Amino acid sequence: MKITMKENKRIALIAHDNLKAELVDWCVNNREALTPHALCGTGTTARLIAEATELPVKAYKSGPLGGDQQIGAQIAEGEIDMMIFFWDPLEMQPHDPDIKALLRIAVVYDIPVATNSATADFLMASKYINAGYTHELTDFQALAEKRAAVMKTEMK
Ligand code: PGA
Repeated sequence: MKITMKENKRIALIAHDNLKAELVDWCVNNREALTPHALCGTGTTARLIAEATELPVKAYKSGPLGGDQQIGAQIAEGEIDMMIFFWDPLEMQPHDPDIKALLRIAVVYDIPVATNSATADFLMASKYINAGYTHELTDFQALAEKRAAVMKTEMK
């Protein structure tokens, strides 16, 4: 089935502690480009970005306390269009399974994900950032119904 993102994107912002300063700087440098979009993020990251940019950033719970899972759920619900997630490649995180799950669900729902400044720059420079974008997504609802129907016949 076809999914269309609107011109104004719903963007999730997340950074692990060692990368928070880098993401905040990136947001400050891209403040104007970010302004038309709806921003959200994990608790601490969202607060730091909101303060530095004076843009509204909806704050979910802190990452280790369920924020990554909340954002993953929003992606699954079709409520988030893209994600900028500076995860730390050099330090273990207590919520590693949640991080994996979030990155996985972003792939399942085919949303653009930037995991470093360069990719975030490329995303913001994309011709799609301020335009509609339509992509093809598996109809997971139909798939679940089909699977349930098959299993029902097998259980008889
Ligand atoms: P935080 O969560 O923004 O609340 O620090 C990010 C994370 O570490 O996953």
